[in-house]
Amino acid sequence: MAHKLYINGRWVESSSGKTFKSINPANEKTIGYFQAGNKKDVDKAVNAAIKAYKKWRLVPPPKRGEILLEVASILRKRKKKLGKLVTDEMGKQIKEGLGDVQEAIDMFEYMAGEGRRLFGFTTTSELRNKFSMTIRMPLGVVGLITPWNFPFAIPAWKIAPALICGNTVVFKPSSDTPMCAVELVKILEEAGVPKGVVNLVTGSGSEVGVPIVKHPKIAAISFTGSREVGKFVAANAGLKKVGLELGGKNVIIVMDDADLDLAVDGIIWGAFGTTGQRCTATSRVIVHKRVRDELLDKLVRATKKLTIGYGMNHDIGPLINERAVEKVERYISIAKKERCKLVLGGNRIPRKGFFFEPTIFTNVKPKHTIAQEEIFGPVLAIMPVKNFDQAIEYANSVSYGLSSAIYTNDVNKAFIAIRDIEAGLTYVNSSTIGSEVHLPFGGVKDTGNGAREGGILGIEEFSEVKTVYVDYSGKLQKAQID
Ligand code: NAP
Repeated sequence: MAHKLYINGRWVESSSGKTFKSINPANEKTIGYFQAGNKKDVDKAVNAAIKAYKKWRLVPPPKRGEILLEVASILRKRKKKLGKLVTDEMGKQIKEGLGDVQEAIDMFEYMAGEGRRLFGFTTTSELRNKFSMTIRMPLGVVGLITPWNFPFAIPAWKIAPALICGNTVVFKPSSDTPMCAVELVKILEEAGVPKGVVNLVTGSGSEVGVPIVKHPKIAAISFTGSREVGKFVAANAGLKKVGLELGGKNVIIVMDDADLDLAVDGIIWGAFGTTGQRCTATSRVIVHKRVRDELLDKLVRATKKLTIGYGMNHDIGPLINERAVEKVERYISIAKKERCKLVLGGNRIPRKGFFFEPTIFTNVKPKHTIAQEEIFGPVLAIMPVKNFDQAIEYANSVSYGLSSAIYTNDVNKAFIAIRDIEAGLTYVNSSTIGSEVHLPFGGVKDTGNGAREGGILGIEEFSEVKTVYVDYSGKLQKAQID
């Protein structure tokens, strides 16, 4: 039987009468069938969310926080089972599957605490006997659209702050990981989220995503996904508040004074963790030519030790689907045509599932396609440079700007890199991945529209500020005139 939509506190079938399938990318076996929602379902979900908003916005935020804490507690109890579900439905290795769930736990706990803050500020007035302050207001109904690569963490990064701020939610998860979304919403229900406050509509981007983006009664959209769809959202959301977290072409710079073993650990983790399918995945390594050969040698040796297979017992799981494999193959053939030097890998693994070898190219320059476009697979471009200035120039030679890292023991170079690399995140002597929930997350340039999630800036995304004046003078006072 197909899993249902969750609208107004009830599990219901889609008005389309159609379903779609989610599969395990490691063996192509069916995980489950899901409702193929459509515009009618989105309308129902929005109406339920509007109704629920009237009460939810008045629930004291610390009380909302108690429900979020309960969500965290149930997630924690089921972490093992849910971590395995991530591995089965999305493909990443089990340690990362558990990490995905842990990130959701952390976010619900963190945002529960924000329920006792949600700070505004007070300031002075230019008039006598007048008080002024700001307070935080919810936005209303928010539409949340998420990708498949962090099927618990990314929905949590949006649902938790949206709820603590007093919004109600229409949630459309990726069609590649709907089972994880259903499990998350069941937990929200079990934790006591009132009916209509969170509504789940599964289904395709065109049938469910587009009606959410264009819906006149949705106040804000928070979208994480590709740059192409992000541009569509920006162009079609009208005057809604829009948060966009898009792709990356993330870089690690390795200077000639770096600890190369440490750098290799960071590169392997950044480039091949999650099979390269993180928005923060390392896809370029810019290395000082003096240490290029040594680094490459260590990197190839370490990469050869990685095991590829079902994520429950291997280091590198499959890509998400057949389209992803074809995309990686396309970029490998372009790289070869453009005369980048293939050092390792480059092939699909001929077995059931969507497995691909970790792949390393060297002699890559900024003009090459694999140095510019997001591949979203286990493909690493090594770019030798003659000095630090050229390293920074190469790092900034892309249109994306999400994550970056530098390995160096020179504190001056580290601080110049922090200042000059165009990215939302810069790590020193650590890989490009590993964000923590209480710090802001997001990118510059084509990676988004300036929105930041996580930490108190996550609260900014899901609330707006009202300015309040209280005049206790008992007479009409005129600002700028009296
Ligand atoms: P995607 O193809 O852009 O899809 C993202 C979500 O948008 C899915 O739920 C998708 O639904 C939906 N969608 C598709 N077309 C739509 C439309 N026209 N209107 C509204 N919604 C639509 O991205 P993806 O392949 O799932 O994820 C990979 C991308 O996400 C990469 O570019 C990665 O860098 C980026 N990402 C960014 C971050 C970040 O925080 N910056 C984090 C993770 C991933 P269907 O699944 O039904 O098509």
